[in-house]
Amino acid sequence: MTRMLIIGPPGSGKGTQAERISGRLGVVAISTGDIFRANVKGETPLGIEARKYMDNGDFVPDSVTNKMVRDRLSEADVENGFLLDGYPRTTAQVDYLDEILAKGDEKLDVVLQLTADDEELVHRLLGRAKETGRSDDNEAIIRHRLDLYHEQTEAVVAKYAERAILTQVDGIGLIDEVTDRVMQVLKAAQTA
Ligand code: AMP
Repeated sequence: MTRMLIIGPPGSGKGTQAERISGRLGVVAISTGDIFRANVKGETPLGIEARKYMDNGDFVPDSVTNKMVRDRLSEADVENGFLLDGYPRTTAQVDYLDEILAKGDEKLDVVLQLTADDEELVHRLLGRAKETGRSDDNEAIIRHRLDLYHEQTEAVVAKYAERAILTQVDGIGLIDEVTDRVMQVLKAAQTA
């Protein structure tokens, strides 16, 4: 049983690593960004609302995001654990997740942070923008998303560090190298 989070700045490869960790540990990976993008694509009411924020690189409001996560975490496939990718991003979201978990008498086992230098991330994301045409991948928006990460999500990381469940991994390198690093620290965290 593993309940974990993966946190990292935009472009740190957290989605890619989340998929790999999910496969190896047999827990479902839940990406709030992917859920939003699927809703935007499907033009659902949630997607139409979320898009206003996503296109500018802003956070979707907590009221919308929290409810979506609560609903997702009430589904049957998370009974054996989960890996949340991209949530929580604000300290208010941390409090909300604490409440959801407390109701089920559950707690997080580990929080994994992928680290990377801002300039490397901008470089990577500009490359990704060319390949995928993601609408939130131009330079001004990329820098705004990085600023939000520093201003808001680093406080989230600090909260989990205080609880001594944070483990950090260098996100720079080949995808396989980063996965090896991640699996090593997760093994160490589980046997600690
Ligand atoms: P990501 O794929 O994780 O980079 O997320 C893409 C976009 O979805 C973000 O830039 C936000 O606009 C939105 N988003 C994803 N997760 C959250 C969250 N936890 N809180 C607010 N907005 C989010």
